[in-house]
Amino acid sequence: MAFESLSEKLQNVFKNLRSKGRLTEADVKAAMKEVKRALLEADVNFKVVKSFIKTVQERAVGQDVLNGLNPGQMVIKIVKEEMEALMGSTMTEIALRPGNEITIIMMAGLQGAGKTTTCAKLAGQYKKKGKRPLLVACDVYRPAAIKQLQVNGEKVGVPVFTMGDKQNPVDIAKAGVEHAQKNGNNIVILDTAGRLHIDEDMMGELVAIKQNVDVYQTVLVVDAMTGQDAVNVAKEFNDKVAIDGIIVTKLDGDTRGGAALSIRAVTGKPILYVGMGEKLEDLQQFYPDRMTSRILGMGDVLSLIEKAESAIDEEQALKMTEKMKKASFDFNDFLEQMDQMKKMGGLSSLLSMIPGMGSKLQGIDIDDSMMDKTAAIIYSMTKEERANPKIINGSRKRRIAAGAGVPIAEVNRLCKQVQNQKQMMKQMSGMLGGRGGKKGGF
Ligand code: GDP
Repeated sequence: MAFESLSEKLQNVFKNLRSKGRLTEADVKAAMKEVKRALLEADVNFKVVKSFIKTVQERAVGQDVLNGLNPGQMVIKIVKEEMEALMGSTMTEIALRPGNEITIIMMAGLQGAGKTTTCAKLAGQYKKKGKRPLLVACDVYRPAAIKQLQVNGEKVGVPVFTMGDKQNPVDIAKAGVEHAQKNGNNIVILDTAGRLHIDEDMMGELVAIKQNVDVYQTVLVVDAMTGQDAVNVAKEFNDKVAIDGIIVTKLDGDTRGGAALSIRAVTGKPILYVGMGEKLEDLQQFYPDRMTSRILGMGDVLSLIEKAESAIDEEQALKMTEKMKKASFDFNDFLEQMDQMKKMGGLSSLLSMIPGMGSKLQGIDIDDSMMDKTAAIIYSMTKEERANPKIINGSRKRRIAAGAGVPIAEVNRLCKQVQNQKQMMKQMSGMLGGRGGKKGGF
């Protein structure tokens, strides 16, 4: 995840601040110097850093802070508030037209930024919210862009309008909107062409589309990995085409994250979403407060809860509660649990959102492939064995281990794990009024 190094450095500065009972102006200045260095090393725009530090410093050396109770904590609070403000303070939605009127969203960006993928991710989210989106393939220059949109559109269950790569993008956009009108789509997402660098043709084409169809929102997609280049690109797009907001992709990668911290301050336009992976569900709305908490190592529990809510449907939750009541837990349940965990982005992604875990994860290699190995073991079992782990004796274990290509110790470990889960459920079922636990529960 992005920001790891920044996060660690800031947490060290904070640790020092917290450890001091009293703070002098010099202490604050020294701490701010460290914060400044950390931000610059994270590739945050120089001017943005300068004004950020100035504001924090002015607020922090105020009488009330240094003479108040717990000055270290107060300074940290100010850094947090100012960082949130830097990224826009509140979450911004892509504005939609009221009622059933068609909203046309034009997606722009340089080639490789992740525009086509993001179009499909966004369409998928609208579909989940009960909208009727249509994707329109206007990127006629990048080979395979149309096919990619079709494949991804199908994956998220959203129709894709194309006219091949021989037509003019403006004509495709117009025809796409007509198609949406006829077919009852209320959101049209235009995937426009990117170029490797900003050039006049690309800008001209975007302006022409805007002049010919009633674009309601222009959204720029930028790649976080390109750092300050992403910020410069955003500024230029905004000057030439006028954008309404930005989606920053690839924040899951090893980027220092400076683009996400600077782009709002430099362009005046909000970050709407962030791309957190290649999969089509890896698009998250952008909450400046939550992102700040993550950067400052305070965790992001709200995003974690949302992830869990979207990955586990009500039916599954009910089924699980029933199972808990009966204290029955077998390998089929185990597979289901792993599947939910995967949908939530794997173990490492989950742990990084837990307060205080972010920096502790550095250097620890969390092996999400463990889950694949576990699945392989379970798939080597027969149906009966999965449903009734008790029957797995020594010879069955040998067969399962050979089938999954793992040492027998791994099979033993897994059997023990299922036994433990079952035991835990037995205890919990007492609380739920089931028959598994001792009377009176805990
Ligand atoms: P386009 O040229 O702007 O349309 O870019 P694409 O949509 O083809 O994306 C370029 C590459 O970036 C593809 O390999 C995508 O899978 C990848 N990509 C897009 N968004 C993300 C993201 O949020 N995280 C990661 N890790 N990869 C992404």
